[in-house]
Amino acid sequence: MRIEIVTVTQWAQNCTIICPDHGGPAVLIDPGGEIDRVLAVASEIEAKIEGILITHGHIDHIGGLNEAIAATGAPVWLHPDDEWLYDLSMMGVEAPGVPDGATRIADGDTVEVAGMRFGVLHTPGHSPGHVCFTVHGADEPTLIGGDLVFFGSIGRTDLPRGDLRTLVTSVKEKIWTLPDETKILPGHGPATSVGFEKQYNPFVSLEAIEDLVG
Ligand SMILES: [Zn+2]
Repeated sequence: MRIEIVTVTQWAQNCTIICPDHGGPAVLIDPGGEIDRVLAVASEIEAKIEGILITHGHIDHIGGLNEAIAATGAPVWLHPDDEWLYDLSMMGVEAPGVPDGATRIADGDTVEVAGMRFGVLHTPGHSPGHVCFTVHGADEPTLIGGDLVFFGSIGRTDLPRGDLRTLVTSVKEKIWTLPDETKILPGHGPATSVGFEKQYNPFVSLEAIEDLVG
């Protein structure tokens, strides 16, 4: 399985293409912008985008959503608790609106698309409808982490309807229960792993978390 990250816009958001090793049916995760660049990479690796998954509704993750839909005709999967964000223009980027026919996902769902399967973990805190995706059949256990946990950091909780305790609880219950070797591909910055962050993350390591939620 091939996982190609295209870092887009001034917010350095990791837009991600997942497809078989030699190309073919593909999934696009979080089309934040610069869709022409993303599609150029997809074309280079012969990935044909057949589905679009969204970790959460912040504009840096969905700013290019309508352009991506227009270019690929791909259906969209999103969590309903973030729908209000799809109408909220932020930081000078026009909100895309909730796409017609988008499939609403919930915790524990499995999304089957482009011949692949993705597990849905509802992980609120950074936003109410934030989700992470586990990638079935990846070469190593892999989590598409969105803006929940970053390398050595966590997602902001000062944005509207963000909440630190909720975020920490999401991490404790949904992420630290995954195998330590699980690779985390965050929405911004470099990859990391569950085991590393569980030990060293200053905000949500097992030790740090004790102070907040026990
Ligand atoms: Zn965000």
